Amino acid sequence: MRLSRYFLPLLKETPAEAQIVSHQLMLRAGLIRQSSAGIYSWLPFGYRVLRKVEQIVREEMDRAGAHEILMPSIQPAELWKESGRYDDYGKEMLRITDRHDRAMLYGPTHEEVVTDIFRRSVRSYKDLPLNLYQIQWKFRDEIRPRFGVMRGREFLMKDNYSFDLDFAGALRSYNAMLLAYLKTFRRMGLTAIPMRADSGAIGGDLSHEFQILAQTGESAVYFDAAFEDIDFLQDELDVEQLKALYAATDEQHDPASCPVPPERLRSGRGIEVGHIFYFGTKYSKPLGATVVGPDGAEIPVEMGSYGIGVSRLVGALIEAFHDEAGICWPEPVAPFRLGLINLRPSDQGCSALVAELEAKLARAGVEVLVDDRDDSPGAKFAAMDLIGLPWQAVVGPRGLKEGVVELKCRRTGAREQLSPDALLQRFAA
Ligand code: ATP
Ligand code: MG
Repeated sequence: MRLSRYFLPLLKETPAEAQIVSHQLMLRAGLIRQSSAGIYSWLPFGYRVLRKVEQIVREEMDRAGAHEILMPSIQPAELWKESGRYDDYGKEMLRITDRHDRAMLYGPTHEEVVTDIFRRSVRSYKDLPLNLYQIQWKFRDEIRPRFGVMRGREFLMKDNYSFDLDFAGALRSYNAMLLAYLKTFRRMGLTAIPMRADSGAIGGDLSHEFQILAQTGESAVYFDAAFEDIDFLQDELDVEQLKALYAATDEQHDPASCPVPPERLRSGRGIEVGHIFYFGTKYSKPLGATVVGPDGAEIPVEMGSYGIGVSRLVGALIEAFHDEAGICWPEPVAPFRLGLINLRPSDQGCSALVAELEAKLARAGVEVLVDDRDDSPGAKFAAMDLIGLPWQAVVGPRGLKEGVVELKCRRTGAREQLSPDALLQRFAA
């Protein structure tokens, strides 16, 4: 992709309305634009990241055995009256009326719809366990939308729902999701800490919030260092052992009674990016989602629900990975892997080499963004740092004479000179 023909509207100034660094950088680096309070358009650069985050989430859900569906964003109010939540949900729910005066709503979550699908499609315990997921826009009329996509009104969520015959099955589903979540976040280069959360009376301790670590995170977290070295490639990770590891919020943490020895206690700041919980028959009972059990009796299914804030993750990733100059994308979610700067587009030699590198890298499947604009070297370096591609390669007249290009790692700032062939080998391998 050539920057001269791409749609990447960069801002020089930090927009005054943005209070936190991820929001500032998402606006400055041309990822999003606000449409109305808490509602955003995703521009090409931001949309590429959103899709990469989404794809990692999707792959780990598929690997865990969940099936992808897509439920409607507009839901009938009747379902929510059946579950008893219609009146309770309050003003966060955007209620609408269609031309026939039927009460509808823009889905803030999908327990009712998925339970309705289940009750009309599944009859026997033999069809369990079942786990359905979607990646869909939600609307919650948050009282104070803020921090850009971190707390929007319209936001993209991966939500899934497990159906099991009994508690033992529900626990297995829950544990599988807990592991899948940790793997998902680790694949994005993030360390996620599962924090025990309140799930009301029915859930017992079966609710966890996932906090990813970022210096600018909203809340303090204390945790066992073991979370940093979990080897997710191992297939036989012991979930119960994982759940027993120490993790506490500021209010929960008491140095005097903390069971972790000081040398293994870590602290940091966290951003909530996911939430899982078990809720038993809370929806299956009122909606009549039952299966015929082994002995012929009708049994309401045991359910759990699991959410990941996909659009919030884009902001959270920037909170976790940035410096004074801009964003530092981890490779798995980077919009492009390599930024190729043509220092002097008017120089035929430079342009020929850039075109050759671009074509060969593209053929090898490497995502390259070429800065071929007529701008000063300083402005190009600053823009490249701002947008944060993991690698930058510079082609200029001086290097051309010496037969080298300069490669810079965005995250560490380390630079090296190498031949164009060596560069190709490095990235196309
Ligand atoms: P919060 O306490 O932050 O309002 P929640 O408990 O309402 O979160 P859930 O209903 O569990 O959140 O939703 C699952 C995930 O969706 C959250 O972990 C978060 O990552 C994301 N999410 C929730 N609300 C928003 C929002 N307003 N904007 C962006 N992402 C959100
Ligand atoms: Mg909320």
